Amino acid sequence: MPYPTPRPPAPNGPGRCPRCLGEVLWCVTAANRVPFAVDVERNEAGNQAVRQDVTGRWLTRQLTKERPTLEHDEHLHMPHLKTCPVPAPRSVPRPAGGRTRQGVRPVRWQR
Ligand SMILES: [Zn+2]
Repeated sequence: MPYPTPRPPAPNGPGRCPRCLGEVLWCVTAANRVPFAVDVERNEAGNQAVRQDVTGRWLTRQLTKERPTLEHDEHLHMPHLKTCPVPAPRSVPRPAGGRTRQGVRPVRWQR
């Protein structure tokens, strides 16, 4: 390849969680084509129907009311989000009372 790719391709297949470094299976969601990590082990309690397409790419779709059961060669997995021991960075609760005022910007005639 004459040009280096600007960034590495999204992971697909067996890999590691960037937060807990545990083993996960990277899939692409059928709905939005975004990378999505599921636990490696199959899990009957999961809601992700995971399969490999003919090119070997791992795909997942969430079970829905319209398609609530596994089809063809799909297997149930649990989203890694649910089992990751390291919480998502945005889930840290804000301190009670919300933002505290740091100061007041002066208006023009006060400068
Ligand atoms: Zn994790």
